Amino acid sequence: MHIAFIGLGIMGRPMAMNLQRAGHRVHVHGRRPESMTPLVQAGCTACDSAQVAAAQAEIIFTMVSDTPDVEQVLFGANGVVHGAKPGSVVVDMSTISPSATRRFAEDLGARGIAMLDAPVSGGDVGAINGTLSIMVGGKPEIFEKVQPLFAVLGKNIVHVGDHGAGQVAKACNQIVVALTIEAVAEALTFARQNDVDPAKVRAALLGGFAASRILEVHGQRMLDDNYQPGFKTRLHQKDLNIVLQSAFELGLALPGTALAMQHLNALLGADEGELDSAAIMKVVQRMSGL
Ligand code: NAP
Repeated sequence: MHIAFIGLGIMGRPMAMNLQRAGHRVHVHGRRPESMTPLVQAGCTACDSAQVAAAQAEIIFTMVSDTPDVEQVLFGANGVVHGAKPGSVVVDMSTISPSATRRFAEDLGARGIAMLDAPVSGGDVGAINGTLSIMVGGKPEIFEKVQPLFAVLGKNIVHVGDHGAGQVAKACNQIVVALTIEAVAEALTFARQNDVDPAKVRAALLGGFAASRILEVHGQRMLDDNYQPGFKTRLHQKDLNIVLQSAFELGLALPGTALAMQHLNALLGADEGELDSAAIMKVVQRMSGL
């Protein structure tokens, strides 16, 4: 199958590579030409624009940063809509606003182009290993059509509902991840300040009710004081902004999420937005002068 893949960052690059390795013809576009080099070496075709990539493909994947980026890639100058054929499908795997997603799906639909929102969880490791969790919104028959490609990229693939439902599920994921990072950071700091080895506390907790992937992976990052991304703080801040904006519109109180957002803001203010969001630990420590 001919596939377009637009957005070749930490996530997009290995995902496009996995589609190529599965035997598909992958037409890639990256804003920085050098981001396409390893993919071209693996057999993908480099395209000068999203428009050119989309014109070659039946299924068009986007994996860029934020809502305005998806809008630009789809509808901007040299964007997808200027190349995509009627009957093609846009699969946006970026994490963006659910309400903007519904608007994009409507605008694409008016041009005869179907859309799925299919944000992911599982990080760069999941992208490389093809084990992402994929949360999909859109029409069931379009989901069925794209399912074999999702099976290349991920393991836990759930069709959550209509347009935007995948993005709502992803927003829920980001709430749980942010608040769990907060909990792990506070617990490990509490252990250390009680002169108890936080590494042993992590090991003990991993066998019990407090066990989680966050305790395992982010807890280790905190112990190692290693905040190489992973998932960048500025992207996590972007995601909680999506959550809190939606909560504002719904008149919904999410106090825990609002607190986590302040800690991410503090990291951005300290010019630490490129660190993994496990760096919330640094904010927790600074508050107590540690
Ligand atoms: P990233 O490494 O920053 O990559 C984003 C890519 O999108 C970059 O290659 C960037 O191009 C491109 N891009 C951004 N805006 C663009 C625009 N307006 N036009 C064209 N290209 C544009 O980010 P990532 O970690 O791959 O994340 C991508 C998406 O996946 C985000 O929505 C993120 O929230 C989500 N996500 C990430 C993770 C994770 O662990 N990293 C996990 C789950 C979901 P340049 O290279 O030129 O900047």
